Amino acid sequence: MICTQCGRENPMDAAFCAGCGAPLPQPSTPPYYYAQPNMPPYYYPQPCSPSSRWIAFILCFFVGVLGIHRFYVGKIGTGLLYLFTGGLFGIGWLVDIIMIACGSFTDMAGLQLKI
Ligand SMILES: [Zn+2]
Repeated sequence: MICTQCGRENPMDAAFCAGCGAPLPQPSTPPYYYAQPNMPPYYYPQPCSPSSRWIAFILCFFVGVLGIHRFYVGKIGTGLLYLFTGGLFGIGWLVDIIMIACGSFTDMAGLQLKI
């Protein structure tokens, strides 16, 4: 953490410069804090899930009734539910295929899947 006022190097977790006492820039926040209403969206791009939408789609299409696509994006709870109910009797499976296809399916952290 380099001080912008005097150029002195400070510990990473320091809030103020040890040399001149100026407030230091804080370490960057995790990606899910980016989309805050008071910040311009073009400056803080929307993060997306590390899980691939195409892999989720293929998994959902072929083995979606077993909830495999939900395990893939980390939704273990509903994945198990799908596993035991046959994709909510086919209805949840159908809804998921449509949601993945139109890009509104999210992972366990609520992030949209990457293309
Ligand atoms: Zn300083």
